[in-house]
Amino acid sequence: MTYVFNPPATTSLPVHDSTLRFPVGRVFCLGRNYPWPASAGAAPSELVFFMKPASNVVEAVGVLPFAPHTEEFCHEIELVVAIGQGGADISPEQALEHVFGYAAGLDLTRRDRQREAKRDGLPWEGAKVFDAAAPMTAIVPAGQLQQPLEGALWLRVNGEERQRASLADQTWPLQEVISLLSRQIPLRPGDLIMTGSPPGVDVLHPGDVIHAGIDGIGELRLQVGPRPARQPANDAA
Ligand code: MN
Repeated sequence: MTYVFNPPATTSLPVHDSTLRFPVGRVFCLGRNYPWPASAGAAPSELVFFMKPASNVVEAVGVLPFAPHTEEFCHEIELVVAIGQGGADISPEQALEHVFGYAAGLDLTRRDRQREAKRDGLPWEGAKVFDAAAPMTAIVPAGQLQQPLEGALWLRVNGEERQRASLADQTWPLQEVISLLSRQIPLRPGDLIMTGSPPGVDVLHPGDVIHAGIDGIGELRLQVGPRPARQPANDAA
């Protein structure tokens, strides 16, 4: 097989306490999956998902590049589920057998772009897809969890807590999520599922220090980088 250019490298995440790495396939992200205040609008009655490309996944260390094309670069702390065994029409009872492990991740969002898309009835991709849009911790194999999946997930910016909830508060429990998704798209090893964020999502500024985590799974620390230089409009071409 000869390609016209070298295929891109496989995106991967470290596996906790191991030299092995988890190769990332597709990234499914859930819409609202925690109770939010009424002011946030009605929650969808069905499971809503969108996707990010695997290339958006990065290890959550060091400097987080400030996303281009936004004035409202926002954090969303989420439980990430890593699928190790594929399957279609998975029953909730068997769902956890398909899980390789768990990580903490950020579903970074250009909120201004998302608001415009919602207003105009357009897709969300412009709000959710950009380089480094999904920083994640190492994946903890399911058998090594330090506690049941009902601990807290939390996020602080510059030491001030902005998000805190219990994994037990999820509207669609993990088993349901895996089952419902697998009825729409057969899951494959390497798939990641970002399972939605509790309220408290807010904007980030250059220099902000993010400290976030999920009890029993992992923590991440990132410093938000400078705003990208404005690019001239590409209309003169
Ligand atoms: Mn999200």
